[in-house]
Amino acid sequence: MDGLGEEHRRNVYTRGQNPTVEAVERKIAELERGEACKCFASGMGAVSAVLFGLLESGAHVLFVNQTYGPTIQLGERLAAYGVAHDMILDTDPAAVEAAMRPETRLVWMESPGTMTFAALDVATIANLARSRGALSALDNSWATPLFQKPIELGVDIVVHTASKYMGGHSDLMAGAVVSDASTFERIFYDAYLLLGAALSPADAWLVDRGLKTLPDRMVRHHEDGLAVARHLAGHRRVRRVLHPALGEDAALFARQMSGCSGLFAAELDVGGYQGVARFVDRLELFRIGVSWGGVESLVISPNRGDNEAALEQKRIPPTLVRLSIGLEGAETLIADLDRALEA
Ligand SMILES: *Cc1c(COP(=O)(O)O)cnc(C)c1O
Repeated sequence: MDGLGEEHRRNVYTRGQNPTVEAVERKIAELERGEACKCFASGMGAVSAVLFGLLESGAHVLFVNQTYGPTIQLGERLAAYGVAHDMILDTDPAAVEAAMRPETRLVWMESPGTMTFAALDVATIANLARSRGALSALDNSWATPLFQKPIELGVDIVVHTASKYMGGHSDLMAGAVVSDASTFERIFYDAYLLLGAALSPADAWLVDRGLKTLPDRMVRHHEDGLAVARHLAGHRRVRRVLHPALGEDAALFARQMSGCSGLFAAELDVGGYQGVARFVDRLELFRIGVSWGGVESLVISPNRGDNEAALEQKRIPPTLVRLSIGLEGAETLIADLDRALEA
């Protein structure tokens, strides 16, 4: 019966720990240079365990940068439990400092951020959080641990969806949290075991399979993503490419990341909503899809034709399209984009 008090390190019951899942957790912890990792049934399982495990009534959580939609929705939901939140789109560390409150317990970063891909000065913001007695967390799904190691930059908690690049084939749902051992135990006992978003051993096996080709896939996503982004940046029907390695974040990018994934956005110059819709429909290789990080290229527009004011309020350009560059080859993808842009 000794195992019952030690469920975070003993195989008592699979909702707690399981040897197949644990094998993957050890790999992800090592990749992220963290002491411990817990895997989850989805990325949102991981996000919710961090927020529920570490925040109590009266606390404040600060989301920095454009943040994954359901993460913010969960932040809003936490108001029902007495937890306040803010999201700040200004990426300047001074603005982050100004947005912190005495009761801020967690500073949640996404770098680069969702949809607009601005990079944050991760080390400075993590330091700021620590100096104010708050924990810092970073959703590292975009870069993967191969291209960015937030813990080495001073971040306390790294969160992943493994449904995207880690899995890599758009055929599984999984998530992960990496941290030091004591934060891990808080999240494990106060949230993970109780919320129950445990990764099944069969899916853990798929994540493990994905990790084996992650380095090779990421090299291709890096090269082809940059080739497509650079091509679009010079296209007359493209107003601006939003990519952390190109443009004003290039220096920050070079300091913090050793490569880039294949997900970025472009602000098109094709007319308004109708022009964007025509462009998306004319693409042949890019399928319409909300996910990313798989073998097949995907495109999505946040514009539904009736929400332009809401997008502008969130500082998302209404003619933005997000592209996930798959493994079809840059030349073929560029030809597809050119055809759809010129039509
Ligand atoms: C998809 C995604 C998540 C959530 O992951 P799921 O596995 O879909 O639950 C979290 N963060 C980011 C940045 C994502 O893109």
